Amino acid sequence: MPDESSPLIDSMDPNHDDAAMFPTLTPSQISRFAAIGIIRKVTPLEVLVEAGERTSRFFVVISGIIQIIQAADGTEKIVATFQPGMFTGEATMLSGRRGLAQIRAAEAGEVIEIERERLLTLVQADSELSDILIRAFILRRIQLVAQGVSDVVLVGSTNCAGTLRIKEFLTRNGHPYSFVDLDRDTHVQDLLDRFRVDLKDVPVVICRGRTVLRNPSNEAIADCLGFNEAIDQSHLRDLIIVGAGPSGLAAAVYGASEGLDVLVVESDSPGGQAGSSSKIENYLGFPTGISGQELAARAYNQAQKFGAQLIIAKGATKLTCDHKPYILQIDDGTILPARTIIIATGAEYRKLALENLTQFEGAGVYYGATFIEAQLCKGEEVIVVGGGNSAGQAAVFLAQTTRRVHLLVRSDGLSQTMSRYLIRRLEQSPSIEIRTQSEIVALDGDSHLESVRWRNVQTSSEETHNVRHVFMMTGAVPTTRWLDGCVVQDSNGFIKTGSDLTPDELVAAKWPLARLPHLLETSLPGVFAVGDVRGGSLKRVASAVGEGSIAVAFVHKVLHE
Ligand SMILES: Cc1cc2nc3c(=O)[nH]c(=O)nc-3n(C[C@H](O)[C@H](O)[C@H](O)COP(=O)(O)OP(=O)(O)OC[C@H]3O[C@@H](n4cnc5c(N)ncnc54)[C@H](O)[C@@H]3O)c2cc1C
Repeated sequence: MPDESSPLIDSMDPNHDDAAMFPTLTPSQISRFAAIGIIRKVTPLEVLVEAGERTSRFFVVISGIIQIIQAADGTEKIVATFQPGMFTGEATMLSGRRGLAQIRAAEAGEVIEIERERLLTLVQADSELSDILIRAFILRRIQLVAQGVSDVVLVGSTNCAGTLRIKEFLTRNGHPYSFVDLDRDTHVQDLLDRFRVDLKDVPVVICRGRTVLRNPSNEAIADCLGFNEAIDQSHLRDLIIVGAGPSGLAAAVYGASEGLDVLVVESDSPGGQAGSSSKIENYLGFPTGISGQELAARAYNQAQKFGAQLIIAKGATKLTCDHKPYILQIDDGTILPARTIIIATGAEYRKLALENLTQFEGAGVYYGATFIEAQLCKGEEVIVVGGGNSAGQAAVFLAQTTRRVHLLVRSDGLSQTMSRYLIRRLEQSPSIEIRTQSEIVALDGDSHLESVRWRNVQTSSEETHNVRHVFMMTGAVPTTRWLDGCVVQDSNGFIKTGSDLTPDELVAAKWPLARLPHLLETSLPGVFAVGDVRGGSLKRVASAVGEGSIAVAFVHKVLHE
């Protein structure tokens, strides 16, 4: 069963045609490729690239026919056919990850063979070819997802937190997967027996047809799929960005497009908090709104197009403050040296102090409201907790597919915390009930949340409802623990930058330079903080993106000091 939920599906014009996905190059365009590659002959059935091989070469067909072949269960399927003038490649050409299918010559002919690194350099310099290639690569990835061409099978249950986490991880990384639903698929036992898997091991990921991972971490999945293999982790970078939310991705796009050697380190998947938003309606240029995942997918491709590299599912664990160049340590102990650093680690969801909360996380309690969660509670009654814009958006979004949405707000109204346009939408929706001065006091259930008790904070009266889905949209706290006090933070843990740093704080932090910190610069020279993690930031996608791009201007200054 192919999963068609990749955010990339939405990210292109739905009226795209084959000409955009499989364009035929003009003689002048072919000659620009020929200038950076070698022309060589191919023989019938010659395998140019094996399925699962790291993507390192690109081919333009001069004569003959090249095909993309998917092999499954002993049979072969032709996924695409390239005639003279056409070229190979899809999204892995940008990331350098492993290819999903085999590339093979169907008959004798000639191709231009180009190293991936040289192709990426050409893409940055030649905007006409860049447009043709990037569009084709993304459309082809969408087609692969739709056709179920995938090297990952996820076996799990829709009522399981681990299954939800892995679905979100693969989706947010634009990686196609097939899903076998244990609750519905009667033949699944054969599959489990074949790989000697017990039911207690689920969710199970069968990775690249060979490796069986039992309830794996996101990091284990990323390692198995080789997400980070193509990245050189040892050389000294101009700039390392920690966090790939909107601010980090913006810094990556601007940094890489301005010629900096940029590496992004992301502990989970690209998109950050914005990636869990069903629809962002106040971001410039998207009058009908855009889902957070779609925005992140676009930004991720854009950053890679300009040559930024992203390490996925590995978080920064330490920054050595007293060492230049700076050294960043990540989850697996790898040490990454950098001349400058941008901290873009944003914020984490605040959790309600409920005794058994973790028991229901992913099994009735969710921190994001995207189409994945919406599918789990179709036609049911749900609760959204919170009085900010994220709660309002979630309520409006969920009201489209659920029977009733209870919006629980602790304060006595929404006007101080939510945008007017959202309040109007909530009020106009007949299936949304706004319950002010209310807070959840207990969750109950077994393997899945079954009921919720809430209290009116003024009258102390309590009521229990058989609601199986709660969306916690209760704000966030800065993700700064990993910094271990390396940079000056305010009393709430947000990072202080620029003129917010007092002379006393700079003295205490041993600020070594005659100049004062630049805008967005922390108490460590050349280390910047942007977006939600920064004290005084506006907690909006647009401001996070703006700060990420502004910081890059100051990175250039520091590199020239
Ligand atoms: C549900 C929801 C809806 C929202 N809707 C809107 C909206 O409509 N309009 C709007 O303007 N704003 C909206 N916001 C707010 C907006 O999403 C945030 O302001 C924005 O995402 C902040 O971007 P950021 O890059 O600073 O941080 P984040 O988005 O928090 O991203 C931080 C990234 O850093 C990563 N990270 C954390 N620690 C580490 C580490 N140690 N190492 C490596 N990586 C790490 C995280 O995994 C994450 O990907 C919404 C927020 C939510 C939660």
